[in-house]
Amino acid sequence: MLRLLNPRSTQTVSRATRLVIRLSSTAIPTTQKAVVFYEHGGELKYTDIPVPKPKPNEILVNIKYSGVCHTDLHAWKGDWAIKPKLPLVGGHEGAGVVVAKGANVTNFEIGDYAGVKWLGKTCMECEFCQKGFEPNCETPTLSGYTHDGTFQQYATADAIHAAHIPPGTDLAKVAPILCAGITVYKALKTAALIPGQWVAISGAGGGLGSLAVQYAVAMGYRVVGIDGGNEKEALFRSLGGETFVDFHKNKDIVSAVREATGGGPHGVVNVSVSTNAILQSVEYVRPTGTVVLVGLPPDATVKSDVLTHVLKSINIKGSYVGNRADTKEAIEFFTRGLVQSPIKIIGLSQLEEAYKAMEEGTSIGRYVVDTSR
Ligand code: NAD
Ligand code: ZN
Ligand code: ZN
Repeated sequence: MLRLLNPRSTQTVSRATRLVIRLSSTAIPTTQKAVVFYEHGGELKYTDIPVPKPKPNEILVNIKYSGVCHTDLHAWKGDWAIKPKLPLVGGHEGAGVVVAKGANVTNFEIGDYAGVKWLGKTCMECEFCQKGFEPNCETPTLSGYTHDGTFQQYATADAIHAAHIPPGTDLAKVAPILCAGITVYKALKTAALIPGQWVAISGAGGGLGSLAVQYAVAMGYRVVGIDGGNEKEALFRSLGGETFVDFHKNKDIVSAVREATGGGPHGVVNVSVSTNAILQSVEYVRPTGTVVLVGLPPDATVKSDVLTHVLKSINIKGSYVGNRADTKEAIEFFTRGLVQSPIKIIGLSQLEEAYKAMEEGTSIGRYVVDTSR
């Protein structure tokens, strides 16, 4: 398809591209460090594996940093009904440098910065892809789930879906934008608010939540954050959040959120991994408001009393990562300095530390792994 769309994709370019691959591949090792697991909940093995070769449509990215998303923890534990491939190299917030590319790739050059994200590839042909609903494609490739991800030093990614990252960008800090940032930005758009309205971020101190607060502020909304503990509250306030409700201290979250927002927030972005928090959000949302479901507690069901649902005329919507346009826009908010990444950098070999903190709810902002150690 690329060849048809791009008249520059001639045989000459392909030959030149192949030459570049051959030249650059001298600098690419044949083995690399990665974290692999073979069974759900099993050992997270920091080990040597072969460096993958890019297919004609793929780039090979030397991953410098990767964010650690709670989805990676779900994948390792096998939390969801749809299981990942095994063995698996997880990770889908990878930021790095293009070191090789397949013959059909025309939108990246060797040396460019690139981001490897959850939505690795989509068909571009189905009803959903055609309408720009790429996350809803029927045959997606998912980095760190159906395709080895970014907890390795070299990852392959479809060039059309890989994110362009401007030269000079801090690769450690941009990494969390590649899933958490895109996802919450799209979820806020799904809430369809207008500046000045209230949005509740449930799970405000976590990886997605800490970015959601900032995108919401940048988009002109007033933010009430819900999470637990003084450290999460301090982070929330430092990011521009207005009112914090601590679910550890407060027994009646519904009343507290309603009170803080003068009758309930106009929108809610649920990024906690708590079914209870989701059920509360359906109750405290303002009449005519929108509850957006993002966090994915295993086996969760959202319930809404039909009479109340109708009388309050509320909306409950799912939101799943974002398409290529959302990706570009979410990265622009970051590169313009409107969104900061509250990150803690650890070595790739220490990945388990991040999982432990997320499991215990003590992770503040986002863990990012440095693949060089
Ligand atoms: P995280 O662990 O970094 O953050 C979750 C936060 O929720 C923590 O700060 C925790 O303290 C808080 N929390 C726990 N119980 C709560 C409660 N009762 N009320 C309010 N807050 C509570 O996780 P993350 O990486 O931000 O991911 C969150 C969820 O989003 C995961 O389930 C992940 O799989 C999902 N996710 C979905 C999409 C999507 O496209 N829909 C994309 C990325 C991640
Ligand atoms: Zn993610
Ligand atoms: Zn499709």
